[in-house]
Amino acid sequence: MSKIKIIACSGIGKAPGLIAREAVIQATRSLPESTERFCLGRVVTGDADVVAAVKGQPCLILDGCAKCCALKSTEACGGTVCASHRVIDRMREHRGEDHGTPRMLSDEGFAFVQEWAAVLEGDVARILEKEGEA
Ligand code: SF4
Repeated sequence: MSKIKIIACSGIGKAPGLIAREAVIQATRSLPESTERFCLGRVVTGDADVVAAVKGQPCLILDGCAKCCALKSTEACGGTVCASHRVIDRMREHRGEDHGTPRMLSDEGFAFVQEWAAVLEGDVARILEKEGEA
């Protein structure tokens, strides 16, 4: 199996977008043998190399908000989405925290990043386990 693609949204104007990007960077750095990430811009524009790499391959998505830009773009490229999350889906558990700004996360924002990276790493483990059973 090729590496699992983990794709973050590119929420340049929202802290959840930055949290998504940081979490994907962290997860792919933790699991370099089994994962890789792509710049969302190349997914959105249908870059031929990215489409070839993503099409029919297992993909994990972390979007910042309900617009689901990474999910929609990955699906448009033909990626097989195994799990898709939105940072905002866990905001309730983090109510009252200050996650920082779209340019700089706070300590609480980075703690949230760690939590999302762990979610993605758990997804990767489940996919690999399933592949092992196949
Ligand atoms: S999913 Fe939301 S935060 Fe991310 S790029 Fe799209 S609109 Fe921006």
